[in-house]
Amino acid sequence: MDACSGVDIELDKVQAKFTAIRQSSIPGIDEVLQVLEAMKSDLQRNAALVESEEMGTATLSSEQKLSLKLAATKAKDTASKVSQQHRDVHPAISRLGKVIDRVFTQDFNVINCPESLEGPDKTSKVVEAIMEHLYRQGLLEVAHRLAEEAHVQVKAEKSLPFLEMNSVLQSLADKNVQPALQWAEKHRKQLEERHSHLEYKLHKLQFLELLKQCPENTRALLEYSRKFQNFRSTEQIKDIQKLMGCLLFLNYGIDRSPYRDLVNQDLWMDVGETFTKDACALMGLSMESPLTVCLKIGCKAIPVLLNLKTMMVQQHVGEIWTSSKTELPIEIDVSPEHLYHSRFTCPILRQQSTEKNPPMRLNCGHVISKEALARLAISTKYKSQLRSLESSKVKCPYCPSEQIPSDAKRLFL
Ligand SMILES: [Zn+2]
Repeated sequence: MDACSGVDIELDKVQAKFTAIRQSSIPGIDEVLQVLEAMKSDLQRNAALVESEEMGTATLSSEQKLSLKLAATKAKDTASKVSQQHRDVHPAISRLGKVIDRVFTQDFNVINCPESLEGPDKTSKVVEAIMEHLYRQGLLEVAHRLAEEAHVQVKAEKSLPFLEMNSVLQSLADKNVQPALQWAEKHRKQLEERHSHLEYKLHKLQFLELLKQCPENTRALLEYSRKFQNFRSTEQIKDIQKLMGCLLFLNYGIDRSPYRDLVNQDLWMDVGETFTKDACALMGLSMESPLTVCLKIGCKAIPVLLNLKTMMVQQHVGEIWTSSKTELPIEIDVSPEHLYHSRFTCPILRQQSTEKNPPMRLNCGHVISKEALARLAISTKYKSQLRSLESSKVKCPYCPSEQIPSDAKRLFL
């Protein structure tokens, strides 16, 4: 964002210069054009007069000569002024180019780890992620072509739910709620379990559409309002009261009533989002495709990693991040919706837990990593001169309690 605002400032300067040039030169150019046009028609009139009266060659009067001379001088001055202003804008344009080069043209190769995506397993995972993204976009044909070309086997049933989802979304884009309503009725039980407001929102939308299209048809509106009797949450009841309030202003015009906000809201987009969220949740999927999430997090991570790499080069620090390491060398601050699971950092080793080094809960309730526990057991063994690791008790590093290492339980976060 900082980079964008830096470019924005320079761009504003260039635009301000262009606006200033336009404002100062256009009246001058117009003036010269007007003088020249007037002179041209004057000369043409003169030539016509000469021809009709057969006076021989046309000559210019001293007055005409003078105004021609003046016009030529003015045109020359204006041209030189415009060209000077044009030259003045060049430094600003070149500065803008330099700022763009500095902040956007990065050498991403320094943080690229192509080997982390190599291997048939990883390639097929990448292809699957792209395909899932394409399914969500409704681009099923493209997804299938990709699977064919990448020789990845995908079960047909995987794309079916997306097919239905996209056809419903398309109807919502065409302002038709019926397919979405049918879907919501079909999945009513699961939606209720999720406390979803989708079905209510769809009925509300349909009611408001009726209200907008034929406000004179009170009967149809009242008829449709019966659909609301099944929605009884406090929030919905309040909203329904407002919808009913609209009916009082049918003759007066909703746009001029205190309820005008209801019809002016962009509810179609909101309903589309609610539907996508619910449909994805029922399919056991996140609302955003994994590829979108990767892209969003990548956009946040890349500038941080590039800065880190620059600092490492400046400080002559060796390689601390390679594809063999599964964690990043620095914490990336991502938005809360992209935090998926808790992490455990061992207080002894100051390392994040991994599959090989999971968190272990001691009997006293304190948690340390498996590796820290093993090191503790070894040091206790040396201290106590005991032969068996199993029989030696380790003392918790945080409280006086003791226990046999094998009694510690693995924690799954
Ligand atoms: Zn303890």
